[in-house]
Amino acid sequence: MYDLVVVGAGPYGLSIAAHAAAAGLRLRVFGRPMASWRDHMPPGMFLKSEPWASHLSDPAGRFGLDTYCAGEGIDARHGTPVPVPVFAAYGLWFARRAVPCGVDERLISRVRPLSGGGFRVTTEDGEVLFSRTVALAVGVMPFTDLPPVLAPLREGGLVSHSSDHDDLSRFAGGDVTVVGGGQAALETAALLAEQGTRARVVVRAPALCWNTLPPPWKRPWWQSARAPHSGLGSGWRNWFYAELPGVYRKLPADYRTRVARAALGPAGAWWVRERVARGVEVLLGREVRHAAPSGTGLRLALSGAAGETLHTDHVIAATGFTPAAARLTVLDPETRGRLRTAALDGSPEVDAGFASSLPGLFMAGLVTAASYGPSMRFVLGADYTASRLVRGVRAHLRATPVPTPPGTLPRPAGERAQYERH
Ligand SMILES: Cc1cc2nc3c(=O)[nH]c(=O)nc-3n(C[C@H](O)[C@H](O)[C@H](O)COP(=O)(O)OP(=O)(O)OC[C@H]3O[C@@H](n4cnc5c(N)ncnc54)[C@H](O)[C@@H]3O)c2cc1C
Repeated sequence: MYDLVVVGAGPYGLSIAAHAAAAGLRLRVFGRPMASWRDHMPPGMFLKSEPWASHLSDPAGRFGLDTYCAGEGIDARHGTPVPVPVFAAYGLWFARRAVPCGVDERLISRVRPLSGGGFRVTTEDGEVLFSRTVALAVGVMPFTDLPPVLAPLREGGLVSHSSDHDDLSRFAGGDVTVVGGGQAALETAALLAEQGTRARVVVRAPALCWNTLPPPWKRPWWQSARAPHSGLGSGWRNWFYAELPGVYRKLPADYRTRVARAALGPAGAWWVRERVARGVEVLLGREVRHAAPSGTGLRLALSGAAGETLHTDHVIAATGFTPAAARLTVLDPETRGRLRTAALDGSPEVDAGFASSLPGLFMAGLVTAASYGPSMRFVLGADYTASRLVRGVRAHLRATPVPTPPGTLPRPAGERAQYERH
């Protein structure tokens, strides 16, 4: 029986694995390393977060993005956007160095709690293993959100989510409507326009919101005192979210949940602004009211200007992610039902060690934003999470007896003690 199975090999899963390995836990890690960054973003995208806020976490701090970039001769200074392929390659480099047990690329199809404690974990091809604890670090992809008016058309291929694309070239020469006003929408639309697609964005808000160029790293002290740098942008509020997730968790639950969703709302990066202005049609203050197939594309009826309709070949909904526990389909419905959730958005509540209400089941990443705040929506939160979560796992291992996997004969006490040490 393993001490810990980590489900997910993105920035959070790999960071947890690095800390768990350093703590000597008997460990398995599953998932395609950096899958979101390798398979769900088209080439040409950049990180919006600063390089110094985009490190994966290992206990000794040896494998930061800065170390990787220095070795590769890549510029990773403050204010220099990091290309997504560089970040994906960094994650693979990190995994090779910081996760000595390696990563098993198979997906986990089911995690089921055992009556005597521990978990039965089943891989996509049917292998079964047992673990005393499980950390779910499944990222954002299980939680894609589509507006109800568009969702039924996804199956026919006329509508997609922005995360469905690692290549936009099939839309070259066509007409694509992107729904949403955040970075994913604006950068996707800019990339479409630059490859010769007629691109427009449909945005609910009356104006687009743009982040400004970050203030210089070194500046007079009074400027830093007024608006300190933080991994989530400058300013005291962002500093609080970035630096004090443990204090954030002590705020009232409904307030935490609301702020985790609304803070750092939809906004484009400073470096995409001109590109949008150059080639993208922007329709503000509108929502898609109705969508129906028409010819080889779709006809969209928009709210806003009365009776406005348009014809487009395809709709890309860049409408984000909702981390509800009900969407954690790696857990069976009964287990999902046992998770204590935040009343407002249905995401699982976790404790000071990132443990869910199900003993031995830990959570990381976006699903913990309602507990720990907006930094958990970003790579930045991986450092705080990995160290606390592994501490939580170790506390659980100390406090609970080693369960006997089903179908195994009980062992004599001496043998059990030896077995426990691994
Ligand atoms: C377009 C876009 C741009 C972004 N830009 C930034 C940015 O600039 N800076 C930033 O900090 N954040 C950014 N984010 C947010 C980013 O997704 C998260 O910060 C980060 O990827 C979260 O890491 P994670 O490990 O939780 O999840 P992910 O990176 O999504 O990784 C999830 C992992 O779980 C695995 N997995 C899922 N289900 C299973 C299963 N059943 N079995 C086994 N493995 C499974 C996947 O294979 C993958 O390895 C961006 C997000 C998007 C969509």
